[in-house]
Amino acid sequence: MAGGLLQIAEPGESNVKEACAGRVVGIDLGTTNSLVATVRDGNPECLAVDDAGGRLLPSVVEYLPGSVIVGRQAFLDAATRPRDTIVSVKRFMGRGPEELAGTETARRWTPYRFASKTGPVVRFLVANSEREVTPVEVSAEILKTLRARAEEALGGELDGVVITVPAYFDDGQRQATKDAGRLAGLDVLRLLNEPTAAALAYGLNKKSEGTFAVYDLGGGTFDISILKLTGGVFEVKSTGGDTALGGDDFDRALADLVVKRLAITVDDAAEQRALLDACRAAKHRLTDEPSAVVELRGRATITREDFDEAVAPILQRTFAPCRRALKDAGLDPAKPILDGVILVGGATRTPAVRAFVERLFQRPPLADIDPDQVVALGAAVQADLLAGAGPREDVLLLDVIPLSLGLEMMGGVVEKIIPRNSTIPTGAKQTFTTYADDQTGFDLHVLQGERETVDQCRSLARFQLKGLPPGPAGMARLEVTFLVDADGILHVTAREETTGKESSIDVKPSYGLSDEEVERMLLESYQFAESDVKTRLLVEARVEADRIINATRAALASDGHLLAEGGRPPIDAALETLARTRAGSDHRAIVAASEALDHASQDFAQRRMDDGLRRAVAGRRIGDVERKLE
Ligand code: ADP
Ligand code: MG
Repeated sequence: MAGGLLQIAEPGESNVKEACAGRVVGIDLGTTNSLVATVRDGNPECLAVDDAGGRLLPSVVEYLPGSVIVGRQAFLDAATRPRDTIVSVKRFMGRGPEELAGTETARRWTPYRFASKTGPVVRFLVANSEREVTPVEVSAEILKTLRARAEEALGGELDGVVITVPAYFDDGQRQATKDAGRLAGLDVLRLLNEPTAAALAYGLNKKSEGTFAVYDLGGGTFDISILKLTGGVFEVKSTGGDTALGGDDFDRALADLVVKRLAITVDDAAEQRALLDACRAAKHRLTDEPSAVVELRGRATITREDFDEAVAPILQRTFAPCRRALKDAGLDPAKPILDGVILVGGATRTPAVRAFVERLFQRPPLADIDPDQVVALGAAVQADLLAGAGPREDVLLLDVIPLSLGLEMMGGVVEKIIPRNSTIPTGAKQTFTTYADDQTGFDLHVLQGERETVDQCRSLARFQLKGLPPGPAGMARLEVTFLVDADGILHVTAREETTGKESSIDVKPSYGLSDEEVERMLLESYQFAESDVKTRLLVEARVEADRIINATRAALASDGHLLAEGGRPPIDAALETLARTRAGSDHRAIVAASEALDHASQDFAQRRMDDGLRRAVAGRRIGDVERKLE
């Protein structure tokens, strides 16, 4: 084991601290198929993962009482044992039952039984209901199989692996993937974004600059990513896609066509399965041949033209996400200036897909490397680089966090600490102070999302820092550090500077965010941007107003005797004005009234200061947990 290979360094610095010599591989843990690759004599190659020498391991796990079957046989058994055979487990990674409810995944891909008491994680009930397994455990079975085959091929234990994940995977989904690796007994050197892996396989990192599009059409998912290479460093500029679109839809479109041709209806589940299997085989033949025959109670001859026509509407659905990703990356969707377009995913072998991509991006795509293998090959290149003698100029791979990370402020607004699309690893620090007098703790609430208010963002974690000595508001200095490591996992540390008290949390949410949801949250953030900002300004103005009102009232109560002659009426008047304005929704008026009160009470404040009391003035504040110690 190459323990301690990766340590989290200062943001921006490379994380490779020591060399990890020996056997390292890259793993493409796919929704439909998984692969493992390694670099031999300077060239990456995929390893055989099944007995027939095939390089694709179907990502299917079948649970029988007392045994587990992974791969081809499990894939074949899926039709007859649908409940005990888990397909597309990747869709469940890092997500809880609540998050899955009502999603596309829940609707389309679940013939499964789930354990009733699941808690925050999904549990499949398998092996004739004798066993409960989580998505992490199911993925670990796939990884264990890949590991065994790789160790067989390489003649010894693996020293480290790089596993690829979709660029849009959030903290929870990444953490779940890492956990699966660990459970399979693997030393996960790093998680790598799939599009970045594809670019590495093409050696694009050897150029010094460029902008690239990666079009990935797999079995059931479509991903588009725009990568930017600057000075040998990759950055994911934008991502998009459709989680319910892929080569499997081609199979269904072809099946519809066949049923129409043969004028039959297929209701029986087993026959439907047989039809889809036959259509998939025909689809594969149509990639190389002008026509193919599907037999089912008759023979239907399907030409390439028939097929192209049938799948055209499906391809069209990739159009909007591509345009949006180009726009997000600052390119003109009508005339994108790209230095390369990479095809990834088995479904991009279909000639119609290649033609579509060429039209869309106005250049012939790179397709010399098998699109099934390209991600695994790139992961192998990355593993090899990590295993080498430390950082090289061309190994820095930057990825981005898909949604902003922030903290809850008083009044329920979110202060973004790390903005979305920041390249990782990244870190940021911000200092906060107490809101109320004698506040002895901070309640920290970590959120993810683009909207301005807490209820519109996603809660990632909560933690507290307690035991501060009571003091006036604004005295404590809380420094909060957000660090997103190379794997996209967030570490939050809060440190109170005067006492040195510290508290921290690693955000490993037991479940993550679906990509549909990432998409939705992004869309909403654009849609609501204006009203959100207004809401936020209003909330902030009110919080500040309340603080000043309360502080002034408290000061008047305790130190009223310090007031100058005739000093009280102007303060009372300003107080009353502020209280009235605060009830309205004009944030500017509230700010002005707050300033007026501040102004009116300046002399009083000065007197109190002179009297030895320090009072806080401004600053953003985090709500208190325990105002008074006893
Ligand atoms: P994933 O990334 O979801 O694991 P893959 O990249 O392995 O998926 O793609 C699987 C899809 O590619 C399936 O729909 C499969 O039918 C399709 N596919 C594989 N080979 C071919 C081919 N020769 N022609 C057309 N489609 C193919
Ligand atoms: Mg894939």
